[in-house]
Amino acid sequence: YLKQTTEVKPLFIQVYNDFKMLHPDFVINFDDDIKEGSLVQIYRNHLEQVLVILLDNAFKYSADRKEISLSASTNSALLEVVVQDYGLGIAKNDLKRIFNRFYRVDKARSRKRGGNGLGLSIAKRLIEIYHGSLEVESVVGSGTVFKIELPIVTIEPDDEKTKDTKK
Ligand code: ATP
Repeated sequence: YLKQTTEVKPLFIQVYNDFKMLHPDFVINFDDDIKEGSLVQIYRNHLEQVLVILLDNAFKYSADRKEISLSASTNSALLEVVVQDYGLGIAKNDLKRIFNRFYRVDKARSRKRGGNGLGLSIAKRLIEIYHGSLEVESVVGSGTVFKIELPIVTIEPDDEKTKDTKK
């Protein structure tokens, strides 16, 4: 798995389309600024799983404001993906713990929405295995922003030629 590369743009668009289809009542601000052909060193299913966890949370904790922003951009070194909602938000004290396994902010409230507090701990572990980062900022009552960063794979110019020859 650790050597797998994934072309990020088609996956990003697919995840967006899936969310749109599942939640037609949501306003989605979509901004795809991923350079064509950008590769990240992560197994495709793992990156998809992380994005789905973040989008699923944005949906679950959006309260009445059914709007999210999904954006991604690349530069020569880094892919950055941002998943933002305008919902319940997370208090400072809880923010420290949401990446812990089985941690849920308001068990009574959250129980109705299902889940067992594993999603974010899995997401963070997966991203860190691939040398990326997953960070969060939040304001109670106005919403939450999750940011993923993953290194872009740079292909050396002579890789094509040396691909099949042993070094
Ligand atoms: P699951 O295991 O199905 O993902 P979960 O959503 O409870 O269940 P996590 O994804 O790990 O588990 O999230 C942990 C807790 O962090 C949630 O219970 C919720 O209280 C809080 N949380 C996560 N994402 C958001 C968000 N976008 N806005 C507000 N609170 C959030």
